[in-house]
Amino acid sequence: MQSFKKDLQKSSKAWTYFDLLPADSEGKAYTKCKISDCAVKLAYNQNTSCMLYHIESKHPIQYEEMKNTKNINNQPISRQDTLKFKNISAERASLITKAIADFISQDMRPISIIESSGFRGLIELLEPGYILPTRRTLSEQTILKQYEGLKLKLLKELETVDGCSITFDY
Ligand SMILES: [Zn+2]
Repeated sequence: MQSFKKDLQKSSKAWTYFDLLPADSEGKAYTKCKISDCAVKLAYNQNTSCMLYHIESKHPIQYEEMKNTKNINNQPISRQDTLKFKNISAERASLITKAIADFISQDMRPISIIESSGFRGLIELLEPGYILPTRRTLSEQTILKQYEGLKLKLLKELETVDGCSITFDY
């Protein structure tokens, strides 16, 4: 049983049954069980043992399924898997968060885009160690700051013009 668990850790098969949630406002990551309507949330600390334990104790059918597919998918750790568990620097993470905020505000995308599976897949492929902020964190901490900066700049510019017309949509 012990070596089976080790194999699962390597291929991270638990991810078949769990989603990685965006970090909360304190930067803590959670995973969410996808099996039927279980929706259990587990703190995620860079390994899958809690997830495996949860599947083993709560979802015996899925646990059997994982065991049975063991040999089909028993490949060595790929570079992608290794990167998944590598933490990136706080500096790099904040650069990415800022770039995402720029993308959303400059291209006028809805903030909810950071929760879409396509966008998350793209980010995970490009920077596997990066954990996306929540919508709330992104709008309150990043986009709001950028808005204040832009507002000041715009007010300064407006001081020097005699008149202007504004159009907008939302
Ligand atoms: Zn569950």
